[in-house]
Amino acid sequence: ADAPDWARVRLDFPLLMREVHGKPLVYFDNANTGQKPVQVIGAVDEFYRRYNANVSRAVHALGTEATDAYEGARNKLARFLNVRSNDLVLCSGTTFAINLVAYSWALPRLKAGDVILVSRMEHHANIVPWQLVAQRTGATIRVAEITPDGALDLDALRAAMTPEVKLLAVAHVSNVLGTINPVREICREARKRGIVTVVDGSQAAPHRKVDVTAIGCDFYAITGHKMCGPTGTGALWARREHLDAMPPFLGGGEMIKEVSFDGTVFNDAPHKFEAGTPNIAGFIGLGVAADYLQNVGLDHVEAREAELLAHFTEELRRVDGLRIIGEAPEKAAVVSFLIDGAHAHDLATLLDLEGVAVRSGQHCAHPLLQYYGVAATCRASLAFYNTHEEIERFMTALTKVRKLLG
Ligand code: PMP
Repeated sequence: ADAPDWARVRLDFPLLMREVHGKPLVYFDNANTGQKPVQVIGAVDEFYRRYNANVSRAVHALGTEATDAYEGARNKLARFLNVRSNDLVLCSGTTFAINLVAYSWALPRLKAGDVILVSRMEHHANIVPWQLVAQRTGATIRVAEITPDGALDLDALRAAMTPEVKLLAVAHVSNVLGTINPVREICREARKRGIVTVVDGSQAAPHRKVDVTAIGCDFYAITGHKMCGPTGTGALWARREHLDAMPPFLGGGEMIKEVSFDGTVFNDAPHKFEAGTPNIAGFIGLGVAADYLQNVGLDHVEAREAELLAHFTEELRRVDGLRIIGEAPEKAAVVSFLIDGAHAHDLATLLDLEGVAVRSGQHCAHPLLQYYGVAATCRASLAFYNTHEEIERFMTALTKVRKLLG
């Protein structure tokens, strides 16, 4: 199919039309959270206006409509990721998803002498849960290092996959460097050695076609708010054998078949892991977001963002004293940069006054910034609804800010 009319696609995102500090907004903080199309906003609004009810409890019409829509969202997400919907646990986001694996899969299995292999470029959400597991089991953490351009060192990674390694945690796309990791090859290598793989797909799912079945991992986590969906939504996909074997993480209503004081029979997965009333409106919105991205076309999204990234990178390379952190050959539209003599926070603060939203700081990836020996970076992250004209406006703002900073 032909590429969509991007100017029309952009009109689906009302927030992008606003001004900040009297300037038209340039929203380049998409790796932090994404903006929402009217289709998603409308679906959430419609739920509360027309059929707000709890799921799986009531036999009345509203309860049935809410349950159908909630389970419908699971089906939409399953189609989006190319997995079976019964193998998809709906949860509050990637942080919850990875903690679920940590507490329910890893904690009962790992022991002293075991190793958890974690890449240097992980978000804290894919580091700290493993440290908590290591503390409680006596397992240790091993770091899979990167090369200076910000790619995974694949030879080192292979060498690090020794028999003690029980689990490998790796990002599909880095939230700081934009590096796209070859997760399919990595998971194949790990599987040959009996290593269970956890892929953090937070930054991949919004930007390219993700076929989880083809990747061949054991666990894949996504977060809704970065893929046009509401906050507080996400999902964990897991191989059925793991879902069946894992004990529940949280106990409560909805996750049981029968409860008595003599004992409780748990529901089957995925419901076994969905205790309590879920974020029903949010998941309905997330289902619509998954359909929205598929309608735009993820191949088109990927091509559009590659084009924006090429333009943006070319412009940034012309700036004196500007250093880009992370220039791996396979890269998504996330650009971390530093400017000689300027603090990242000052840059971001002054850019904001020009209407430009970027993130500054450590991006929940302290070990990665330690590797580069920098205290903070400025990060601009683009999405398909951004424009070439916004890149020009960003560059004009940056020139002004650099003058201000001397
Ligand atoms: N992993 C990566 C790579 C991320 O970018 C983020 C969000 N910044 C997370 C995990 C955390 O996800 P969530 O917002 O769902 O907690």
